Amino acid sequence: MSDTLVTNNKATTSSQQCHLCRRADGSQIPYTDLPADLQQLVEANETSHQTDAQVCKDCVAIFTRAQQKLASHTNIFSDSDRAPPTPLRMDADERFTGRDITIAFLDSGFYAHKDLTEPVNRIIAYHSIFTPEDDPTLLQSPDVASWHGMMTSVVAAGNGFLSDGLYKGIAPDANVVLVKIGKTGRIPEENIESGLRWVLAKERRLSHSHSKHLRWWRFRTTLFCTTPLQGC
Ligand SMILES: [Zn+2]
Repeated sequence: MSDTLVTNNKATTSSQQCHLCRRADGSQIPYTDLPADLQQLVEANETSHQTDAQVCKDCVAIFTRAQQKLASHTNIFSDSDRAPPTPLRMDADERFTGRDITIAFLDSGFYAHKDLTEPVNRIIAYHSIFTPEDDPTLLQSPDVASWHGMMTSVVAAGNGFLSDGLYKGIAPDANVVLVKIGKTGRIPEENIESGLRWVLAKERRLSHSHSKHLRWWRFRTTLFCTTPLQGC
């Protein structure tokens, strides 16, 4: 239904940008031409609302898929018509799940969220630069410093265990390594360097112990290019 709407209105809206993704590919249709329930979902997930806005064909397709997926889980979330899952928001290719990939996260703290630990624990290592012994049981303790690391790790690699697979991350099969490098407030650069050095030093051991095909997402930062982090 939405594709038809896009096609029928293409000629009159080609000069407008999509209100959601800012692309101007000529496929935009007026927001008000969307079905009422789709308008409601879009409106709930946009940063600002304009009644004369245009929405592109790709965004209509994404939100239509989101609407169908959310509708199939209404037995779990009564308000599930308000938040599309991350892979849908990002239009992620679901053929790529992060299998055989390990992602290292460095943040102020983490929590052993069930979307990372059930039905199989995919937290293959935990390290805190503040303690001499790595104690994964610390991941079971709620801490005000842990919310951001929990959010990012679950958005990336959560499998949606607590939501019947609905709110999974972009790489739901990936393993994760969690490295605590801060407490509350700003994380000092030397802490980031310390965490990165631990990851690099442990890479070989972790790779061999968990998968012969394991690959790491190596990353470089450009934010601290005048510090020793440049060489990490
Ligand atoms: Zn768009």
